[in-house]
Amino acid sequence: MPTNILALDIAGNPFDWIPPQEAVLYYAMGKVAWELGERELLFRGGFSRSGVQSRILVKPIIAVAGSEIMARMLRKELPLGHRNHLLFKRDRYTCAYCGDCLTHRELSRDHILPQSRGGRDTWMNCVTACLRCNQDKGDKLVHHFRPLLYVPYVPCRAEHYLLSGRNVLADQHDYLSARLPKHSRLL
Ligand SMILES: [Zn+2]
Repeated sequence: MPTNILALDIAGNPFDWIPPQEAVLYYAMGKVAWELGERELLFRGGFSRSGVQSRILVKPIIAVAGSEIMARMLRKELPLGHRNHLLFKRDRYTCAYCGDCLTHRELSRDHILPQSRGGRDTWMNCVTACLRCNQDKGDKLVHHFRPLLYVPYVPCRAEHYLLSGRNVLADQHDYLSARLPKHSRLL
């Protein structure tokens, strides 16, 4: 699986995982303000008249200058949606009711305020639950069931990108980890 590039705004705030090909475009347009990381990915472009092929070296972390990037960053929300893998990672694959630590297949999403009562798919209304606890809880409210062993929270941007990244390189992991709040369960 190809490694994605961690794109930052010029202040160093992460705003997206982008495919390397998109990073190449930013390099070609001269929009990479600064870059970080040990590894380099080499991309080859077209040939000049003298027969020299262009080469672009892409670093794993790049800061991209440009107002359109800022606009995109502001538009980009970090919702939970239906992505259970993000929820389970946030909760360290641990059932919020019995504390069992399980695999993805043995876990489910529990709505603290049940969907039948208007509960929504938000970070604050969802916790990880094992299948048995989820079934036992059913449509009950949490105070009619069992106390939560941990509280839900909305991941900050750095956490969100750690949760959503695939094949995260050590450089990228270190960069994001350094920006996690103290309460983060990803530390
Ligand atoms: Zn459980």
